[in-house]
Formats: sequence, C-alpha cells, structure tokens
Amino acid sequence: MTEEKAYIVVLGAGESGVGTAVLAQQKGFKVFVSDNGKINDYYKKILIEKGIEFEEEKHSISRLLSSGEAIKSPGIPDNSEVIIRLHEKNIPVISEIEFAARYTNAQLICITGSNGKTTTTNLIFYMMKKAGLNVEMAGNIGKSFALLVAERDPDFFVLELSSFQLDGMFDFRADIAILLNITPDHLDRYDYEMQRYTDSKFRIMQNQTENDLFIYCCDDPVISGELGKKKPKAIPLSFTLKFLRDNTAYVENEKLCINYKNNNLTMSIYDLALKGKHNIYNSMAAGIAGEVLRIRKDTIRESLSDFQGVEHRLEPVIKVHGIQFINDSKATNVNSTWYALESMTNDVILIMGGLDKGNDYGELKDLVREKVKAIICLGVDNSKLLDAFGDVVDIIQEARSMNEAVSRAYRIGEKGDVALLSPACASFDLFDNYEDRGRQFKRAVRNL
Ligand code: ADP
Repeated sequence: MTEEKAYIVVLGAGESGVGTAVLAQQKGFKVFVSDNGKINDYYKKILIEKGIEFEEEKHSISRLLSSGEAIKSPGIPDNSEVIIRLHEKNIPVISEIEFAARYTNAQLICITGSNGKTTTTNLIFYMMKKAGLNVEMAGNIGKSFALLVAERDPDFFVLELSSFQLDGMFDFRADIAILLNITPDHLDRYDYEMQRYTDSKFRIMQNQTENDLFIYCCDDPVISGELGKKKPKAIPLSFTLKFLRDNTAYVENEKLCINYKNNNLTMSIYDLALKGKHNIYNSMAAGIAGEVLRIRKDTIRESLSDFQGVEHRLEPVIKVHGIQFINDSKATNVNSTWYALESMTNDVILIMGGLDKGNDYGELKDLVREKVKAIICLGVDNSKLLDAFGDVVDIIQEARSMNEAVSRAYRIGEKGDVALLSPACASFDLFDNYEDRGRQFKRAVRNL
C-alpha cells in the first residue's frame, strides 16, 4: 500500500505562494494552489511546468478544507472568508517564512520595523557579500524565501519580514532579529489597535534563546515601552542617536560608534553612504549585525560608506537647471516623509499625497514650515492635505498626474532647490504601486 502524501494548500499565487508551492512539492507534499484573483502569466507558467495543481479567480472552499495545513500569502487578510473557514476547521494557517524555515539550516538574520526594512536588509546583504559570505536575501524582497530554500543552500539568509509575515509565524526562530522602529502603519489590518500591530512586530523575537541576538532601536518609544513589559530571552543589543555608552551603537561627536564585546568601531557619520538621521539608524543596525557576524571592521566601514542605496528610497534622480529631483516614492506613511524632510538641507518643493491611510499630518507641520517652500498635492482627493498645509506653506497646488506634478515643481523651483517626491500616502489612487509612481516620476523628470 502506498502512503498517501500529506496535502497542503497555498493561498495566493504570487512570488511568495508560487515559491512555497515549489518547495512544498519538492518536499513531497501534494500541493494545491488557490488564488481568488487572476494569476500572473509568469507564475502560471511555473506552476504548469512543475505540474502543480492550481485554481484562479476563486477559492474552492470544500477542497481547501480537506488540507492538513494552509500557507497564506501576506497580502491575504486574516478576516477574509477563506481564512475564517480554515480557522473554524482548526487547519493551521501559516506564512511562507514559517514553512520555508523548516527546511533550511542556514543562520537567519531577520529585519522588521515600520520603516527602513528594505534599506537595512539590502545593506546587511551587501556587507555580507563583500565579506565573502555565502548569503542570500529574501522575504519581502526579490525572490521568495521558499524558492531560495528549494533552489540554493546558503550559510545565511537575510530576511526582510513584514508584520503580515510575522503574524503567520509560530515556531520560527531568528538567530539575529533586528527591530528598527514601530510607528503607526497598516492599522486597517489590526482593527486600528496599535498594540496589536506592536505585538505583531515583536513576534520577531519569539522563540529566540539566550544564544540569539536581538538588535533594536532604544530611541523608539514604542519599542522601549514594550521592552519594559516583555524581556527578550536573546542578548539585547541596542542602538541610539544619543550619547549613551551602555548601548552597542551610538553617535558621539558626529561619529558612529559600535562597541561590541569591547571591540570598537568608529566612523564619521559624514562618511555614511546613506544620508539622513533615519539612515544613521539603519547603518547602526547593519553595523551591529556586521560586528556580531565577525565581519572585518574595514569591510563594515567600507560597506556603510559605499552602499548605493535602494531604488525609490531617497533616490537622487538628476539635476535639471540646478534643481535636484529626488525619488522617495516608497515613503508611504507620515513617518517616512518626516525622515525624508528631516534629511533635507536645501529648500524643498514637496510632491506628496495619494491614498490616505488615516494619516495625521500634524507631525509634519514644523518641518514643512522650516524646509518646504511649496507643496504639490498629487492625489485624487487632496482635501486633507490642503486643509493641513494651506496655512503652513506659501504655495500649495494640486496635480492629477505625475507629469503635471513634476512640471509644476520645475516651474516653481530655483537653482539650489530640491524637488522631492515623498508622498506620505499609498499610491493606489493614481498608480499601480509605489514602484510605478517612482518610475513615472523619474520618467517625467528625465523628459523635462
Ligand atoms: P520598508 O521596507 O520598511 O518600507 P524602506 O527601506 O523601503 O522601508 O524605506 C521606506 C521609507 O522609509 C524611505 O523612503 C525612507 O524615507 C524611510 N525610512 C527608511 N529608514 C527609516 C527609519 N529607520 N526610520 C524612519 N524612516 C525610515
């Protein structure tokens, strides 16, 4: 008699779901992929080539309910019907990261936070590559973790983890966990309860032991408050912009200092490749990880000073008639726009707006007053922005397309100004996603 294969379902057939399906098949599961939207041709081809069964534009609930475990893409909310039905039948619903981690022995360096995840993940990956380590990068970035586990066998993974992925993680253990910051974001998925979102971020340290490391920003009031209640089992290593020698990384006299196991690394903050206070935080987090991994100091310094940055994150585009255009399309919440403005040293023409996720623009007012000479509101509904900033800046205009926004910024700008796209909002009212918004910005700038 042949033993029946364990049956699992994969919900969502994007990068995460298809990677999971490939890995699950490789590990001997009978796999069924179900997506209630249309599956992109690229992913459909992979499923067909691998002979993996799938359905699209529906969820055949009864079929899904006969599975032993479901692996859900991060985009599917917990309150969707299919998830509720699976929970009712006590079928475990986990994330791709939880599933794939079962099949690798690599050390896992995991990064989460409301902002700065992609930047820090890339920076650590870059540093580790430069140090000659056998490392792959995954999570919210590029190829899925599951696919890389199926296809490669590195010694390390650097993983960018969103709160949605963390929500589906139960037994997963990070060797090195990095928590950058916690500010309100995605609250619509957490019943507008900040504590639930915070708990989700803190899952990054669940299952850690005293042999693991927990790197975190102690300037962040939400993180510090939470650590008063939940002590990490892992060794805590903190970073701060204040001068506090108890911390593993800090800034003193404009020098970034890392002190790990009585080993000191210092470098001028002016030598950091990534500009702005927020990037000093990201660089400190990456630098601590580098020290923990015993990467040579020269390599750490070099990586922090020649890293090229990531597209759509304070990405310089070009100067046109002395006006520097900067693409920060990934600033999809108020906090990231705050940090973008904070890092500006010239007068700013700010292109902002889009889909508002319940933003409070009050936090931006002081910086806008100090640094912004004009705001171009780029969204379908700009009323909240007009109300918030109408009295704060001299010039506030509306635009309905990226070309219009860019040409308005160009007309207002003078030599030495910066035209900054840092929307503080999601992009879906006028664009496919933030990448599309950033690319349209760059195209419009280059066509000036
Ligand atoms: P994430 O992957 O968490 O969305 P990114 O690295 O893509 O973060 O950066 C998104 C935006 O957040 C950037 O445009 C930048 O302006 C801002 N940002 C980056 N790092 C930080 C940080 N440590 N704190 C606050 N804002 C940040």
